Amino acid sequence: MSLIVQKFGGSSVANAERVFNVARIITEKYAEGNDVVVVVSAQGDTTDDLIEKANEINPDHSKREMDVLLSAGEQISISLLAMAIEKLGFPVVSLLGWQAGFRTGSAYGNARIKRVIPDRIRKELDKRNIVVVAGFQGINRYDDVTTLGRGGSDTSAVAIASVMHADLCQIYTDVEGVYTADPRKVPNAKKLEEISYDEMLELATLGAQVLNNRSVEMAKKYNIELEVLSSMTKKPGTIVKEAVKMEKMLISGVAKDNDVARISIIGVPDRPGLAFKVFSKLAAKDINVDIILQSIGRKDTKDISFTVTKGKLKDALSVLNDYCKILNAANIVYDENVAKVSIVGAGMESHAGIAAEMFEALYEAQINIQMIATSEIKISVLIDAGDADKAVTAIHNKFFPVDQ
Ligand code: ASP
Ligand code: MG
Repeated sequence: MSLIVQKFGGSSVANAERVFNVARIITEKYAEGNDVVVVVSAQGDTTDDLIEKANEINPDHSKREMDVLLSAGEQISISLLAMAIEKLGFPVVSLLGWQAGFRTGSAYGNARIKRVIPDRIRKELDKRNIVVVAGFQGINRYDDVTTLGRGGSDTSAVAIASVMHADLCQIYTDVEGVYTADPRKVPNAKKLEEISYDEMLELATLGAQVLNNRSVEMAKKYNIELEVLSSMTKKPGTIVKEAVKMEKMLISGVAKDNDVARISIIGVPDRPGLAFKVFSKLAAKDINVDIILQSIGRKDTKDISFTVTKGKLKDALSVLNDYCKILNAANIVYDENVAKVSIVGAGMESHAGIAAEMFEALYEAQINIQMIATSEIKISVLIDAGDADKAVTAIHNKFFPVDQ
């Protein structure tokens, strides 16, 4: 007998038919004699709808109340799924995050899991119940409900799998696994049999929607193998794990992120310590900076450009406007109409020319590169948002030729 953790995303439980479909997947595993813990997200677009409702009532709502509201989405789906499982004639119990032992930090809206105390889950499994747990939520030390940030149910599932030493952790979604590009946009994208934690982490961080990046981080830390697969088809998915068999693939995927804005500070005095001051001011306001580019000084000044997420643009501009008066910097400009397109692959560590190939693809598609950033296993470019889909296809075709 094994302990299996299964997570189902919002689209997998979007309506009654899908809830029953999921209930059948769960009870099949249970009927084989396994212990099954299920983590589920809010149905369909519920979370977005709830956010809209909150903004209708009070756009300046407190984060605490927002978490009380958003956690309700998962409360609906666990109870409905449990009812479907009851209807199929299996013993089941649904648990909210706090009942399942999720203790988190106190940052409402983006809380981190501190620990999971799985006593209740264990008790229910001992009674041979299927346990359905609300993803994306926990309680903090004030006994208040918290949520884990968008897409947080993946992390809830991996947390349970690691604390309970599950034999299998399956993440069910609406695509058949991890692809070399978004299969909804690039029709000849290939499904990967396996991908390493590091590559998956980069892809998830760089915009691939299939797994939440924190969940991958946690899976790597606790060495939990994940299987990403579709709840709609019965095909094998993609395994995310530490060591991956040597495939002849240099890159494992192309990802796109539209949630980017570029800011440039033009004409900063060219002397030591300025970058430090600018970026520490931003860090103090909890503003994460991504790609950074500094131009070579001319006439004792230089330009510093960097990117932030769109949600942080307003905050960043207000920090910089205050500071630039002190700095005597000439001007601050920004552009929200940009996108980041990246390639990821462990193979690029040992192969020259990958960057050149990527840039060639962009050149052939006549796409201009605004900024470039690289690490050992990724290359990102910042381009016009309008070019993003074209860029993904062009780059994908270069590394995975269509006739291959
Ligand atoms: N329901 C939450 C969201 O939509 C959490 C999740 O789906 O994992 O972000
Ligand atoms: Mg969701």
